[in-house]
Amino acid sequence: MKQCSLQLIVVLGCAICVFAQNKPAADLIIQNAHVWTVDALHPEAEAVAVLGDRIVAVGSSSQVDAWRGPHTRMVEAAGKRLLPGFNDAHVHFTDGGAQLDNVELNDVTSAQEFARRIGERAGKTAKGEWLLGGDWDETKWTPAELPTKELIDPATPETPVAVNRYDGHMVLANSLALKLAGISAQTPDPTGGVIVRDQQGNPTGALKDAAQDLLFKVVPSFSHDQRRHAIERALGHAASLGVTSVQHMNPEYADIAIYSELLDEGKLTTRIYAAPLIPQVDDQAKIGIRRAFGGPYLRIGAVKAYADGSLGSRTAYFFEPFSDQPSNRGLLSDEMQPLSLMRDRMMRADGAGLQLCTHAIGDAGISAILDIYTEIEKTYGSRDRRWRIEHAQHMAGKDFDRFAQLHVIASVQPYHAIDDGRWAERRIGHDRASRTYAFRTFLDHGTRLALGTDWNVAPLDPMLTLYAATTRATLDGKNPQGWFPEQKLTIQEAIEAYTMGSAYAEFQEHEKGSITAGKLADMVLLSDDVLSIDPVKIRDVKVLKTWVGGRLTYDAGAASQ
Ligand SMILES: [Zn+2]
Repeated sequence: MKQCSLQLIVVLGCAICVFAQNKPAADLIIQNAHVWTVDALHPEAEAVAVLGDRIVAVGSSSQVDAWRGPHTRMVEAAGKRLLPGFNDAHVHFTDGGAQLDNVELNDVTSAQEFARRIGERAGKTAKGEWLLGGDWDETKWTPAELPTKELIDPATPETPVAVNRYDGHMVLANSLALKLAGISAQTPDPTGGVIVRDQQGNPTGALKDAAQDLLFKVVPSFSHDQRRHAIERALGHAASLGVTSVQHMNPEYADIAIYSELLDEGKLTTRIYAAPLIPQVDDQAKIGIRRAFGGPYLRIGAVKAYADGSLGSRTAYFFEPFSDQPSNRGLLSDEMQPLSLMRDRMMRADGAGLQLCTHAIGDAGISAILDIYTEIEKTYGSRDRRWRIEHAQHMAGKDFDRFAQLHVIASVQPYHAIDDGRWAERRIGHDRASRTYAFRTFLDHGTRLALGTDWNVAPLDPMLTLYAATTRATLDGKNPQGWFPEQKLTIQEAIEAYTMGSAYAEFQEHEKGSITAGKLADMVLLSDDVLSIDPVKIRDVKVLKTWVGGRLTYDAGAASQ
């Protein structure tokens, strides 16, 4: 008997000693950081331990040190601010990556400069090759007039040009491009689009919304290598800005194929959720793909729809006319004509379990989508759908309650507020402007926000978005205290919406969005403490390091060496 219990003790002792030897050590410990976790239970911490791609401990430096082993990589954060990685809820990732190499027209301030840069680029472009991109914004010009083909024709006789307005709702073509596309005075405006014409009825080269398709159908699409290059540029750019997840709105299937290829090669360094356009809803539906289908690096299962155009292109759809253009109240998109077309597609998407992300900017556009969402709920009953309205820019006062009751997520881009805020009030008047980019009003109604940029429509840099959300100081310097300052977010609210809010918007709030043990180790270390500095200075804050799943994807120290 005595012998027996001795044996038991030996066996037990061995089991304990084996356990102690096998207790896994962390692969990475970030210590002496100023951690804002976005985890309501433990908002602040000093250190984080990572094992594999997951966070395993968050706490004081001494608590987390228990995870240290002989091979643990130690990162000394020297008191710098550590946040969960940013999740940009609305990007056009391939276009953004391509734009990094395209002609840059966004900061142009005159028609002459616009023409000069296009001419310069055309000189370096092989004959017959298309000159694309640009992201021009005529509201920054003096005088602020739409460009015409006459401006760029002399310098581009052999180069077809299709340079887009920054919002993607207008493109300027030169004469050669119009000819290749067969667009002439006789071409009628397509449904949901406008061919801008001079007094004689000849196209000026500017094409709005659906009219752009007449042109883009003759622009050769990216080769595989061009597309992959653009996406690799975008991945590098995202890492350098602390963006660890993006939600790619209207990707082409070829983009998803490249993501899959990069994932296979271990080179996908930003997590992707892709939402292809709703006209192709049956493709995902017929193979049984549902919301957030996939793995931690690549998911699909949403569809992106368009209700209307943009404020900048005067194609956002309003109940009342534009204040400065009494005959125009905007345009419903071609997907909404007739409305039953959109309703049927959305019903099919919802029936298949796909998530709906709908671009709606004008108050009547938003209202029409809320009507359809209401109808779907009546037909199929309520469940956790996480419908989204992308932009949700100009709200009718009556719709805030309805928005909240349907649990619709407002997927918003604060940078647009400080950009469009320069001129929006002239276009829609004070009353409607007071419900524009109404982030505070959304929160007050219990609506969840997901933050993003709409890159390449706005810069991908999260610091600019945080700056915009917390200051609402328009880019022209005319509203230093904030344009409709009552709609400002606090820095904590803005960070939460940009991390947990965006994660929720893609059904991933249990996987990412906060620095919490068990979650994916997506984090960003910043040069300055965005939570305590004057919000005006947030735009100057730099990213020091970015980790995705515990992997260092950007290191400012290494980048500057
Ligand atoms: Zn967009």
